[in-house]
Amino acid sequence: MAFEGASKIWMNGRLIPWDEAKIHVCSHVVHYGSAVFEGARVYNTAKGPMAFRLRDHMQRLIDSAKIYRMVPSYSVDDLCRAALETVRANDMEECYLRPIVYRGYAQLGVNPTKCPIDTAIAVWKWGAYLGPEALAAGVDVTVSTWTRSAPNTFPTMAKAAANYMNSQLINMEAKERGFNEGIALTPSGHVSEGSGENIFIVWKGRIITPPLSDSVLPGITRDCVITLARELGYTVEEQSIPREMLYVADEVFFTGSAAEVTPIRSVDHVQVGIGRRGPVTEKIQTAFFAAVKGESPKHNDWLTPVRG
Ligand code: PMP
Repeated sequence: MAFEGASKIWMNGRLIPWDEAKIHVCSHVVHYGSAVFEGARVYNTAKGPMAFRLRDHMQRLIDSAKIYRMVPSYSVDDLCRAALETVRANDMEECYLRPIVYRGYAQLGVNPTKCPIDTAIAVWKWGAYLGPEALAAGVDVTVSTWTRSAPNTFPTMAKAAANYMNSQLINMEAKERGFNEGIALTPSGHVSEGSGENIFIVWKGRIITPPLSDSVLPGITRDCVITLARELGYTVEEQSIPREMLYVADEVFFTGSAAEVTPIRSVDHVQVGIGRRGPVTEKIQTAFFAAVKGESPKHNDWLTPVRG
């Protein structure tokens, strides 16, 4: 059964039916987590469906692959073309886009160098990641007992499948304890990020987000928010955040291609600010949704038309 709205997957250069997009159970990726991937969105705009920051996502995919010594058969341009082709083949107006580069089937053993580097692109319909009401009401989160990976262990600049074993622990624990999502700290106790989102706080008139050296993914939505917030006249700083700042911050919010800009209304049952989306978060959210919908002329270069 295909994911919602999807019928075809692009695999190593060919569009094939969803149900035929299979790999062998002895593929390297299955045993050793050797894949890098992306998550991007296509938004329907007044000028038709547009992929949001597609090139930046594909560049990050290639960068993630480079960190893991994977040489994909496709360039950033090839991947952008293939992604748009996949969206068209699935007749999508709005969708989530999931390109993945993985070590395939040849032999097993930790050393992956004999295995092929395969590439696939899937698309499906995916609404608001943390629920539609969360965008206004905010979510309840907890600080995870699991930390993000230490520097020089699992590189967090790579969006690698293996990193998401850690994300799964963070997310499952949060859900088991009745929260919407978990926030991980760095091994030294600074705020890092959510299981699938970057985090921002608003504190004494400034907007602060952890630096890339605090075990975070270089989020593309994070980059949009830094740009948009500065355009709105806010001071944005990338600096380490002590855990307790989460409890005294005026506003806290998540960012991500899936989560978009989602306010956080409580952390560990402590109310954040006014206990719902705060005014700064709302302004940034409005600017973000205007940009993705093609209503922000200044940022039209963030959009790639699906139907060229
Ligand atoms: N951190 C993690 C761990 C993520 O999985 C994601 C989602 N890709 C993000 C941050 C946000 O990144 P982006 O804005 O590029 O989607």
